[in-house]
Amino acid sequence: MACPQWQVSQVFAHIFIHSCYIAILRTQAVSRAMQPVTHIASPIESLEEAIERCQILGMRLSRQRRYILELLWKEREHLSAREIYDRLSQQGREIGHTSVYQNLEALSEQGIIECVERSDGRLYGHLSSPHSHVNCTDTQQIIDINIELPEEILKQVEAQTGVKVSDYRIDFFGTKTTQSP
Ligand SMILES: [Zn+2]
Repeated sequence: MACPQWQVSQVFAHIFIHSCYIAILRTQAVSRAMQPVTHIASPIESLEEAIERCQILGMRLSRQRRYILELLWKEREHLSAREIYDRLSQQGREIGHTSVYQNLEALSEQGIIECVERSDGRLYGHLSSPHSHVNCTDTQQIIDINIELPEEILKQVEAQTGVKVSDYRIDFFGTKTTQSP
């Protein structure tokens, strides 16, 4: 899933361990009561499935809401509400600022799209199922990636914390700058 030009070893060399967090979201004891919609439902793997999920959840599928879902699935980036508004406007899609914000909030609350909290605001992505991120500190680009930690690492985390890990997301940080050998 990562861009081919990424030098994997370089990316890993740049991982800031302190920034690499493992979200131990909940203990098994409370997991059932606290599970969000995304964990009960199967992962959304296409625009069509995202639209279908809206219908299953009884969300009105307005033209504007469809525009946003189409854009996120086409671009496959993590975009701010402003960027989404700008891109839709450039494409001649008629949608107001407020409508963009409201639809993004509704879609992320229902677990249909991803919402990433950043210090400078929220970003939205098409992938709502749990996944990890590779953050390029040069370009501020965030690349979705699926990483499975080896069983022994999960066991170590559980042994050290007493928490049964049911889910995790990892943030990798790095640069795309190629270093000369
Ligand atoms: Zn993402």
